[in-house]
Amino acid sequence: MVATLFIDGVWKAASDGAVHDVFSPHDQRVVAQVSQASQSDVLDAIDAARTSFDSGAFTSWSFKERSALVAKIADLIERDSESIAQKESADTGKRIVEAQYDVADVVATFRHFAALGAKEHDRRVDVGLENVTSRIVHEPLGVASLIGPWNYPLLQIAWKVAPALVAGCSFIVKPSELTPQSAIALMGLIEEAGTPKGVANLILGPGSVVGNSLISDPRIDLVSFTGGLTTGRTIMHAAAQTIKKLALELGGKNPHIIFADANLDAAIDNSVTAAFLHSGQVCSAGTRLIVEKSIHGQVVDEIVRRAGQIKLGGPDDLLAESGPLISQAHLEGVTSYVNKAIAEGANLLIGGTRSTDPAHANGWYFLPTVLDDCLGSMHCVQEESFGPVMTVEVFETEAQAISIGNDTNFGLSGGVWSGDSAKAERVAKALRHGTIWVNDFGPYRPQAEWGGYKQSGIGRELGEHGLGEYLEIKHIWTNNVPSRSGWFSDPGHGGA
Ligand code: NAD
Repeated sequence: MVATLFIDGVWKAASDGAVHDVFSPHDQRVVAQVSQASQSDVLDAIDAARTSFDSGAFTSWSFKERSALVAKIADLIERDSESIAQKESADTGKRIVEAQYDVADVVATFRHFAALGAKEHDRRVDVGLENVTSRIVHEPLGVASLIGPWNYPLLQIAWKVAPALVAGCSFIVKPSELTPQSAIALMGLIEEAGTPKGVANLILGPGSVVGNSLISDPRIDLVSFTGGLTTGRTIMHAAAQTIKKLALELGGKNPHIIFADANLDAAIDNSVTAAFLHSGQVCSAGTRLIVEKSIHGQVVDEIVRRAGQIKLGGPDDLLAESGPLISQAHLEGVTSYVNKAIAEGANLLIGGTRSTDPAHANGWYFLPTVLDDCLGSMHCVQEESFGPVMTVEVFETEAQAISIGNDTNFGLSGGVWSGDSAKAERVAKALRHGTIWVNDFGPYRPQAEWGGYKQSGIGRELGEHGLGEYLEIKHIWTNNVPSRSGWFSDPGHGGA
C-alpha cells in the first residue's frame, strides 16, 4: 500500500486507493509511486488543519517555542540532506550537486525563520495619553494552503512552511504532482520534530484534481502559491469569494542589461549562467538580454560560443552542466515558443530544438538557444519560456535601456552591468522589479525579501516580510483609568 498523504498526524493512502507514478525527466523511468488524494482526502486535510488551529494546540506555543521547533526541523533536514537531495534530483532530473545546493538553502531558510521568530514581535505605541496602554501584537493568521512548483520543489515549499510554523499557522502543503518526493520527506521530519497533529498536512495530486478546495474552501484563510501566472489568476479568482489573504510568487521575464563600460568577461559569463542554469527553469532566469549596441556583436558571439559548449546530462552524469526540461509537455511548449519567435522575425543563432544526442533520446533535453534581433513587441520577449532560451535586444542610451527593461508585465528580477557605479545605481532604482543585481546575477539570501512587482506576484517571501505574510496584526488599546466617553449629551445623568 502506498501511504504518502499526511493528514491529522497520520500517514494515509488515498481514500480511493489511487496512486500516481513519478517519472524521471532524464529517461522516463518511474522513480516513485505516491498516493493521489481524492476530494474527500483534501477535505479531511482542511478539516484537520482547521480543527488543530481552532483548538489552540499550536497557537498557544510562544514564538520562542515555535522557533525552537523550526530550528530542530532544520537540523533534521541537514541530517537527511543527502537522501533528500537524491529524491529531488530524481524527480526534477537536475544534477545531484544542484539538488545538494537546494537542500542547503532549505536548511538556511529554516534557520533564518527560526532566528527571526525568536525576536520580539510586539511593540508599544505612544498614543499620547498617560492612562492608555496601546500595543501591537502579532497572531497566527490561520489555516494556509501552501502550493508549490516543480523547479525548486522543496525550496519553494520551505519558503512557506518555515514561516507558517514560526507564526503558528496550520497548513496543507501541496507540492507539484511532478516532484512530490522531497515534500513527503519534509513532512516526515516535521512529524519527527514533534509538531502537534493536524498542524502540518500533506496532499498530493494534480492541481486540477485537488486544487479547487485548497483555494476556495471557506475554512482556508490564506493561499500562498508559487507557480505560473495562469494558475495565479485562477487562485485570485477563487480566493475572492471569501476574501482570502494571498501570497503569490509567479513568473518572470527578467531583463539583463549590459552597458559597454562593464567588465564584459564577467558579464558574459554571468549571462550564460543566468539564462541556461537548470535549463532556464528558474523564475528569475536572466533570459532577456539587453545589450548596448556598440558591444552587441562581441557579446552575442561569445554567448553563442559558450552556449554551444554546455554539456547536458542527467542526475548521474558527473560531467553534465545542465539537465533536462521537466516533461514532454514542457518540451513541446518551449519548442513552439522558439518556432513562434522565428516566425515573428527573431534570428536563431544556436539551439532551437531538442537534443539529438542518443544519450538524451528518452529525456526532455532542449539545447541552449539564443534568439537575436528581438523586439519588445515579440511574444518571445514578453512571455516566459521557462526553458534555455535567451532573447537579445539592443539599446543605445541609458533611458532606452531602462525603458526596454521595464517593458514587461512581469517584475520579478533583473540585472545591470556597468563600470559606472552611479549609472548602475540609477538604472537599478529605475527598474520596476523585486530584485536587482548590479554587476552580478542570481544570488539571494533568506535574510532578504523575495517577490515580484506587477504580474510577478503579490507579497514577499523570505526576509522579515516573509514571516509577516503568516501573521495577523492586532492593536490592543487598554484604558487603565476607565471613564465616560462624554460624546453624547446625557441630561438625565446624575453621575455614577
Ligand atoms: P503551475 O502554476 O503549473 O503549478 C504550480 C502548482 O500549482 C502545482 O503544485 C500545481 O499542481 C498547482 N495547481 C495547478 N492548478 C491549480 C489549481 N487550479 N488550483 C490549485 N493548485 C493548482 O506552475 P509550475 O509549472 O509548477 O511552475 C512553473 C512556474 O512557477 C513558472 O511560471 C515560474 O516562473 C514560477 N515560479 C515562480 C517563482 C517565484 O519565486 N516567483 C519560483 C519558482 C517558480
